[in-house]
Amino acid sequence: MTATDALVRPIAVSICDADVLYLRGQLPRRDPFCFGHEFVAEVVSLGEDVAGFAPGDRVVVAFLIACGSCSPCRRGFPAACATVDAKAAYGFGIFGDWGGALCDLIRVPFAGYMMAHLPSGVSPSAAASVGDNLSDAFRCVAEGLEEEPGASVLVVAGGGRAPSISLYAAALALALGSEQVDYLDSDPERLLIAESLGARPILAARAPDRQGSHYITADTSGDPSGAWLATALRSTARYGRCTSCGIYHGSAPLPLGAMYAQGVRFTVGWANVQTHMPKVLNLLQAAPELLNPIHTIAPWSDAIDALATPPSKLILARPEAL
Ligand SMILES: [Zn+2]
Ligand SMILES: [Zn+2]
Repeated sequence: MTATDALVRPIAVSICDADVLYLRGQLPRRDPFCFGHEFVAEVVSLGEDVAGFAPGDRVVVAFLIACGSCSPCRRGFPAACATVDAKAAYGFGIFGDWGGALCDLIRVPFAGYMMAHLPSGVSPSAAASVGDNLSDAFRCVAEGLEEEPGASVLVVAGGGRAPSISLYAAALALALGSEQVDYLDSDPERLLIAESLGARPILAARAPDRQGSHYITADTSGDPSGAWLATALRSTARYGRCTSCGIYHGSAPLPLGAMYAQGVRFTVGWANVQTHMPKVLNLLQAAPELLNPIHTIAPWSDAIDALATPPSKLILARPEAL
């Protein structure tokens, strides 16, 4: 352990949308690895240079390993941290040997930057996903709503490869003051959850050409073909913002003509979660029940059974986090 490290004990771990794809066999198999990268933990011990935290504190930990002091980190892009290898992250087994959160003790490097205090009144389960999916959903809608308060938002959940980010984006857009959130999905159950959050549910089995015109559009489909992304891009109002949280490895066709005509401002890439975590935690503190309709909480001791058939958002909680 170095002077800038912390050792923490995970007490609530949420299952990332990418984890669900892996559990369902929709991603290439990897060698055995420690699972889990979205978590709230209790601080067990701290290096001498970690300020602002004490043993026993409850913290959200970012999934993405970053130093907080290099030039990209200081500019707000920890996903481009120059101190660690590209894509350094917990719990994937392929992005460095950082371990995973379904464990009893995990090392947090650069702890002063990687951790954020869990606010009072917010349960560990409610905040378990702040270190990844929830901050990813936030960046899909927050910048646009800051620029254009009250603007309408379209969330394109599509075939549902990223179900929690989709529902989180709808919930956060409403919490951030959007006057109308249209939620496009192929799954009736998720549409019901979206409706319970206050969004307008729209059922679509296939990607439509466009779905209205919105200043803010979010492609949360996770669909690498780009079909639902194209719906989001064509539905973006003039000089509006479209953000895709999808993971792309190859190429996907883009409706460049429509994008040019509309002047779409398009954002894609890894979410810079450390930059967003404090703002997301503030939102949760103001509305601690906000995400309850999205979450299924299971006891830590039932993890293996619960992981066999994961719901839209599974959170595994130790007794002290329930
Ligand atoms: Zn993830
Ligand atoms: Zn850095």
